[in-house]
Amino acid sequence: MNLILLGKPGAGKGFIADILKNEYGFYHISTGALLRKNIAEGTQLGQVANGYMAQGELVPNDLVFDMLKDEIGKMKSKNCVFDGYPRSALQAKSLADIVNIDSVLFVDVPDDILIERVLSRKTCLACGNLSEIGQKDTVCKKCGGELVTRADDNLEVVTNRLNVYNKSTAPLKEFYADKIVVLDNSGSVEQTKQKLNQIISDLLKKYGENI
Ligand code: AMP
Repeated sequence: MNLILLGKPGAGKGFIADILKNEYGFYHISTGALLRKNIAEGTQLGQVANGYMAQGELVPNDLVFDMLKDEIGKMKSKNCVFDGYPRSALQAKSLADIVNIDSVLFVDVPDDILIERVLSRKTCLACGNLSEIGQKDTVCKKCGGELVTRADDNLEVVTNRLNVYNKSTAPLKEFYADKIVVLDNSGSVEQTKQKLNQIISDLLKKYGENI
């Protein structure tokens, strides 16, 4: 089963993807995390992407799509979750050319909550893991790496990322109208997990094998 996570910046796509990866064995493809890895490694792609990401703008699709195709080639699971791709109609069409998408999980959170969450979250420099919201940890619980505030998690850039989302990504809800399942992520972690478990077990019965 191939699943897309759609939602505004800070809606919790990374958090949901982590559960799908760790508890259901999904192969997790996050274009944002792959781009950040390229930046950390100082690759040519990373150097170009950095300029766009620092402003909260989309990195040109030809670059992101080549990177995505490489990552799809490494897939080892029958179930894959796309996190952060597609972000525009052009990207949705590019993706449709290479994989079949079964379902699109729209992670829904009101704007005031998601801005607060983005501004208070930390990300591991080494493995990309997100800290739990509200925790004061300075090291990653998974790998012991340093937890930092992402360069694009500040109010000015987040505001632009929301504008870019509204202009380029929001229309994808129409594009995928027949595949969308809404997951409300405005409550507690436990509430979200319960709703997610129900949605995923229904989807796996319909599209995937038990894993
Ligand atoms: P994310 O980690 O998904 O919040 O993405 C962080 C940033 O990486 C975005 O604000 C974009 O600048 C860039 N990015 C991630 N995915 C894409 C994509 N599919 N297309 C273009 N830019 C992307």
